[in-house]
Amino acid sequence: MLSRRVLLTAPAALVATLLPAPLFAAAPGFQRFRLGTFELTALDDGVWHRPMGKDFVRNAQGAAVRRAIADAHPRRRDTLPLAITALLVNTGTKLVLIDTGSAGQVVDTAGTLMRNLAAAGVTPEKIDIVLISHFHPDHIDGLKTKDGARVFTNAEIKVPAREWAFWMDEALPGSAKPAIARYARNARRIFGDIARDVTQFMPNQEVAPGIVALDAAGHTPGHAAFAVASGNESMLVLGDLASHPALFVRHPEWQPGWDMDGATAVASRLRLLDRASADRVPVQAYHFPFPSGGQIVRASGGYDFVPAP
Ligand SMILES: [Zn+2]
Repeated sequence: MLSRRVLLTAPAALVATLLPAPLFAAAPGFQRFRLGTFELTALDDGVWHRPMGKDFVRNAQGAAVRRAIADAHPRRRDTLPLAITALLVNTGTKLVLIDTGSAGQVVDTAGTLMRNLAAAGVTPEKIDIVLISHFHPDHIDGLKTKDGARVFTNAEIKVPAREWAFWMDEALPGSAKPAIARYARNARRIFGDIARDVTQFMPNQEVAPGIVALDAAGHTPGHAAFAVASGNESMLVLGDLASHPALFVRHPEWQPGWDMDGATAVASRLRLLDRASADRVPVQAYHFPFPSGGQIVRASGGYDFVPAP
């Protein structure tokens, strides 16, 4: 018998790959909002149903983690749904894309970003700047097709300098850790032959008009978040600072296995979640449920994510 999970997810994945875009009008894959004079567009790339090992949170009781997941996703037992949502920022002078989606190269259930970008009326050649939060495949694979062709042909590509230094190290593909070796090989596939067109940035540097890079290290060595400001409005784009609201916003001290340096990731998470709640600025997070924007509010023992209406 098909499990409930298969019934819920498989048809959507099949439909996404088989049907032409117009039939998707009932389920818009992009959402627009304003920030000052900027126009922002959240672009849906699909959902990554990540299998969870029993101890995938290193420093929490398995029962507490399972309870948090069951509360958030009553029908799921063995996977954690991580939505993938990239953000397009039109500053009025520049079209800036923050992270690029998975391009269907990570899992079958994700890869709709380009279609939704087209539905939003933007062709990839129009993108002026691509900002990368970190070098995991679900954030950089959209830079190239499976055949290795560049997608955003006119864009300046900007990446965290510390991310580049770590993942492009020539010794890394030989790492004894399989995931690290695999990600390093993928980073070389994406960036190797376009290195001269890539600009590296450091935390606190303005990387596009109104957009400043922020140190959010820990998930990966150079992981960056971004502060976007226009007029007297601003927001924080968190990347993978917290990959699931019910787990890592509610329990910011929990260290998932996918955070490479757990303690540093917790420090980054506490610093930026505190900033978002204290300054009452909205956030967008790459893996929160689409359209992935909302407010962070302080709650006992952590924070709550309140999705934007
Ligand atoms: Zn990610």
